[in-house]
Amino acid sequence: MRIAIVGAGLAGLSLARILHVHGIGACVYERDPSPHARSQGGTLDLHPESGQYALVAAGLAEQFYALARSEGEEHKIFSPSGDLLVHRVPDATGRRPEIDRTDLRDLLIGSLPAAAIHWGAQVVAVEDGAAGGWQLSLADGTRSECDLLVGADGGSSLLRARLTDVAPSYLSSYAQMSIPDVDRTHPELARLVGHGSLWALGHNQNLTAQRESSGLVRVSAMVRSTGPWRPAGRSEVLQRYADWSPSLTALVQAADDPAVAREIRVTPPGMGWSSHPSLTLVGDAAHLMPPVGEGANQALRDAADLAAEVIANPDDPAGAIARYETQMRARIGPIERDSAKMEKLILSATALVDMVRFFTRPAIREPSGAATS
Ligand SMILES: Cc1cc2nc3c(=O)[nH]c(=O)nc-3n(C[C@H](O)[C@H](O)[C@H](O)COP(=O)(O)OP(=O)(O)OC[C@H]3O[C@@H](n4cnc5c(N)ncnc54)[C@H](O)[C@@H]3O)c2cc1C
Repeated sequence: MRIAIVGAGLAGLSLARILHVHGIGACVYERDPSPHARSQGGTLDLHPESGQYALVAAGLAEQFYALARSEGEEHKIFSPSGDLLVHRVPDATGRRPEIDRTDLRDLLIGSLPAAAIHWGAQVVAVEDGAAGGWQLSLADGTRSECDLLVGADGGSSLLRARLTDVAPSYLSSYAQMSIPDVDRTHPELARLVGHGSLWALGHNQNLTAQRESSGLVRVSAMVRSTGPWRPAGRSEVLQRYADWSPSLTALVQAADDPAVAREIRVTPPGMGWSSHPSLTLVGDAAHLMPPVGEGANQALRDAADLAAEVIANPDDPAGAIARYETQMRARIGPIERDSAKMEKLILSATALVDMVRFFTRPAIREPSGAATS
């Protein structure tokens, strides 16, 4: 069976890797010209039942734990006036260690034969191929055929449109900045952020900072707005945070200009499609959720579950796809609902009070991450 995977993000790469471990080859088509052509963003905490589960299935658990940082679980919550209200330091279990996205992606890329990933290979169209398969057209004019096609092509998925008319809708905006080498260049900000992440929560807007293993701090200013907020640079970000404590806005002052404006989009919870015998979706292509710590984890779990079905049923790809999609929807439903609630919590008029209450309640399940990468 010829398997094509569109997208070399975490979902596509982990799917290819798990299949490879079981002797099943797949071709990954990635539009980026090379692995480091663009920044992959900040750090991720991988959860035992999803992200870490997939890395075990990929035979990469040991390498993952060697790269991960349990101290990265430290997090602090500040008020806009600069008061530290919550300070969590990782416990001895380190159940959700942080890993730099670049390190994780490099680990997956390095675990595949070089020929498995086609870089600079943007898929621009997919058409019905022979015997129920697919023909892919690439931007450089080349074509290729496959029997089983997997869309791991992220939030703006091209392949999603083959299965459903539903498109992602706008939710919120953020400006992304970074402070390189923070320990040397801004030791006071290095102490403020600590080893993990900092969230400062205001009315319908927040400021977050997250440390990477290299000492780079990613700073993100996120706002709820009816339409996209596209600040031209740091000074416009600072205007929006003018009544915040200078101890916090110092993070924006210290960051490299220009700030990169980005938008958060989501697919509606419960988005489904009629199962197709030779095409399915994984990761953000299948369920684009607010960035509250689940997207990458679930993308990895999708890959592990789809791979398990294909490995167990090599002669029945249609059945493998149908079973994967049924399991995936049952798993994602509650996570989509929790993520939507958490997104409202961190970006609302009462975000600070709600989050402090959330983190100071005894014996509760913690939210899994902040929108800082
Ligand atoms: C600000 C922010 C913070 C986040 N924080 C967290 C977090 O803390 N924890 C967490 O679990 N998740 C987090 N997420 C979510 C997480 O980043 C995504 O869910 C995850 O990266 C999805 O992986 P993916 O492989 O499905 O898609 P992607 O990582 O988007 O990969 C898709 C790949 O497909 C390629 N591609 C797209 N179209 C084509 C095409 N036509 N042809 C060829 N290649 C193509 C792209 O170039 C890309 O490499 C966050 C997201 C945001 C925006």
